[in-house]
Amino acid sequence: MESTDTLQRRGLMFILSSPSGAGKTTVSRMLLRADPEIRLSVSVTTRPQRPGEVDGTDYIFADQPSFDQMVEGDHFLEWAHVFGHSYGTPKAQVKAGLREGHDFLFDIDWQGTQQLYQKLETDVVRVFLLPPSIDELRRRLTGRGTDSADVITARMERARAEISHWDGYDYVVVNDDIDECFAKVQEILHAERMKRARQTGLIGFVRGLMKD
Ligand code: ADP
Ligand code: 5GP
Repeated sequence: MESTDTLQRRGLMFILSSPSGAGKTTVSRMLLRADPEIRLSVSVTTRPQRPGEVDGTDYIFADQPSFDQMVEGDHFLEWAHVFGHSYGTPKAQVKAGLREGHDFLFDIDWQGTQQLYQKLETDVVRVFLLPPSIDELRRRLTGRGTDSADVITARMERARAEISHWDGYDYVVVNDDIDECFAKVQEILHAERMKRARQTGLIGFVRGLMKD
């Protein structure tokens, strides 16, 4: 009989959002390193590449005309303007991948989360990270060393508006200690994978149980 570990299941869309600087990139990277079953949905963006970012791995970097063409060609599951730049989630891969049982991680904002939820509600798991305090958020943005003072000010001004969307998520985790936060995020993912509706192999498995 088929082992319960290899039962077929439908993949899920694991969305991690947070105000900028609260730690979603850090948690995403830890998750991708620790869990071979989940892959990043790589977004297309028109914002400039940051030091250390790899084109095609962290983002697909595009100019505005190319991005606009992708919008017109209906290549995105969702897209939004964030901090003066365009960001979008490509459709390719995700839909077929879900059927094949692959999980996808989305590092997207609340606007994208709402759009994905409207389109693919039952596949979506929404997780929001909060900083332990506004002061700590500022320290993290400054400490990251990737943004100018002006950009940090803009991100801080936007932080309150982003935090106000906390109640549009299924799970909210305060990212105080990174290891504790990561452990909680992993627990959510593991439990969500076990949901009956995702375990498409269960019907056959249970039929087998009844026959034996
Ligand atoms: P986001 O992707 O949400 O904008 P990052 O993951 O880039 O945020 O985190 C912002 C900065 O804060 C990074 O320098 C990161 O190393 C640091 N950081 C993330 N989580 C923690 C934490 N729990 N404690 C201390 N520093 C953290
Ligand atoms: P950053 O420029 O710091 O990488 O990202 C800025 C914001 O854009 C973050 O809140 C991030 O989650 C969001 N973002 C990244 N990719 C996408 C995307 O494809 N769609 C949407 N809606 N938001 C995105």
